[in-house]
Amino acid sequence: MPPSPLDILHSVFGYTEFRGPQQAIVDQLIEGGDALVLMPTGGGKSLCYQIPALVRQGTGIVVSPLIALMQDQVDALREADVSAAYLNSSLGAEDQREVERRLLAGELNLLYVAPERLLTPRFLGLLESTEVALFAIDEAHCVSQWGHDFRPEYRELAVLHQRFPQIPRIALTATADQRTRDEIVERLALQDARQFVSSFDRPNIRYQVGLRHNARRQLMEFLERHRGETGIVYALSRRKVDETATWLTEAGIEALPYHAGLDAATRNANQRRFLREDGVVMVATVAFGMGIDKPDVRFVAHLDLPRSMEGYYQETGRAGRDGLPSDAWMIYGLSDVVTMSQMIAQSESADERKRVERQKLESQLAYAEATQCRRELLLAAFGETFHGPCGHCDNCIEPPKTWDATVPAQKALSAVYRSGQRFGSGHVISILRGEDSTRMTDLGHDRLSTFGIGADMDEKQWRSVFRQLLAMGLLEADAEGFGTLRLSKASREVLVGNRSVRLREDATPARASRRRRDS
Ligand code: ADP
Ligand code: ZN
Repeated sequence: MPPSPLDILHSVFGYTEFRGPQQAIVDQLIEGGDALVLMPTGGGKSLCYQIPALVRQGTGIVVSPLIALMQDQVDALREADVSAAYLNSSLGAEDQREVERRLLAGELNLLYVAPERLLTPRFLGLLESTEVALFAIDEAHCVSQWGHDFRPEYRELAVLHQRFPQIPRIALTATADQRTRDEIVERLALQDARQFVSSFDRPNIRYQVGLRHNARRQLMEFLERHRGETGIVYALSRRKVDETATWLTEAGIEALPYHAGLDAATRNANQRRFLREDGVVMVATVAFGMGIDKPDVRFVAHLDLPRSMEGYYQETGRAGRDGLPSDAWMIYGLSDVVTMSQMIAQSESADERKRVERQKLESQLAYAEATQCRRELLLAAFGETFHGPCGHCDNCIEPPKTWDATVPAQKALSAVYRSGQRFGSGHVISILRGEDSTRMTDLGHDRLSTFGIGADMDEKQWRSVFRQLLAMGLLEADAEGFGTLRLSKASREVLVGNRSVRLREDATPARASRRRRDS
């Protein structure tokens, strides 16, 4: 009789009990069924396929997109006396043959393999002459062309279902939006799979968002509170990553850069130091992090607005995997939205994809500008209802002050409209403030009825109004990404006086934490 899953959990992995849905998932596979598992990072996805692979006859084949991750997993399994190996481009010809020999001899419990390798006719042939316990498709969101981890080979993995219909398959991901979920089911032919959707709530993470006015000083103040702790600082561009890592180092903080522009050796060395040492701050682009399993990351800081809520969730989710209090801190500015709209517009993507990316960016902006509990909003983005408020995000600790901005909003919208919906916020603000210049006169904008009607507010206040109108969908940025503003369908309601507008007073994220320390 094969050992029971619980025996294996105890004897091989040394844990006392299954966590959350693990037991049900393990049973589903042992019985030969398929599963789709959506579980946040750190939730314990690996055991969901490792244990059934040990219970069932044959080798569990694990498709994984990340070479570094395969190595770590295999090392950990070998330490637990599980016979595991991996096949990827990092192995020499000799080692590859040895792994294949062990596979054919039935000596392996688990084999990790890169998708491009798995899909070769040769490897699929090998699989036909061995006993396969199950197929696990890790990071399954890589099938989605809308996500930034898209891997074209993942789309061909449906071949596993066609060639090995009897063998159970499990797809796993920490990305949970409905669109991605549907795409995984469709692309991997998982229509009959049982879906296991875990809560994405991360109660130990304190979310804080604020406006960027002096990034270095703000970051420094934040890092002061995390002296000597491990953390990640995300920035949008490689250049900003390099610059930030340099000045942090000069300021006496152990900071290392990570982005796709660095050579592989440097990247690996930096990643290793981050994982093995205590108190390293990794300054990185989004290229860093998939599969990073370091339990004691105490903070994740964003210096720019992330591209999407999924990205934000994944990135902030790398904090506090040990369950201890951790900070997800972010600063951003309106310029981020302009820069990113431009990046989207100038990319090679199809229009449909650009539209989706713009929507994602808009949701992210709306989250940043919101006055509600952050955790409530974050979970809502994944279709989950959280009965907050959470009590420890910035908006909960100190509810943002709001003000009735209906009249300024009407002025702003009509200035956009009267100037022909062809200008960015800078110029429209100049119109509102009645600023004379040759350009203004040349355009004839000094003769508009909206010229000077907003002189009672300064430029900074107007910028705040425009940013929030954009976040609320009361203004739209143009598709070409030049920062041009136009009215949306919802704008009309405001213009005709059917809808009032409340906006938040701008604040910095430092505020929430200062308050917490005092209390
Ligand atoms: P994921 O792949 O979902 O990010 P992992 O499989 O890497 O998560 O697991 C995250 C951490 O939780 C690992 O350190 C793992 O050993 C631990 N873990 C998983 N399941 C259990 C369990 N049932 N009991 C205790 N620890 C567990
Ligand atoms: Zn809250």
